[in-house]
Amino acid sequence: MQANVVRVKKTQADYFRRIALREAKKTGKEVQAFLVGHVVSPTLTVIDEFHYTKKYAVQTTCVVQWSGEEYEVVKQAAEAAGKRVVGDAHSHPEWDAVLSPTDYKAHVKEGHRIAGICSIHAGRTRLRFWVVESALPLKIDYV
Ligand SMILES: [Zn+2]
Repeated sequence: MQANVVRVKKTQADYFRRIALREAKKTGKEVQAFLVGHVVSPTLTVIDEFHYTKKYAVQTTCVVQWSGEEYEVVKQAAEAAGKRVVGDAHSHPEWDAVLSPTDYKAHVKEGHRIAGICSIHAGRTRLRFWVVESALPLKIDYV
């Protein structure tokens, strides 16, 4: 079986981990970035950019959400550049790097291709990406 792969720049993934770790240490809250890039094929998704917000619509220890308006800006800019929002990444402070039932439902509803989850345990991060049709995390191709 061909591996399902997400290609991401190591520097961008590391930056997301740092943001997630810092927020978890400081407030215990989740963070979320939207991922813009290309769905190249059913087995390859490429992330070009992580988009961040300064102010979340909702941000707690177990829920994180952007404002709809801000998300639309990212979505439209991506489409204008011939790209798309391929998914999101959010953190799970002191929880697992898996989709919660709520995450899974939201992922399906949004029609996103991938969902990244960064868990934080005892000061260490683990970043995994998921697609809806597989019970296994994607293989990460760091570039
Ligand atoms: Zn979650």
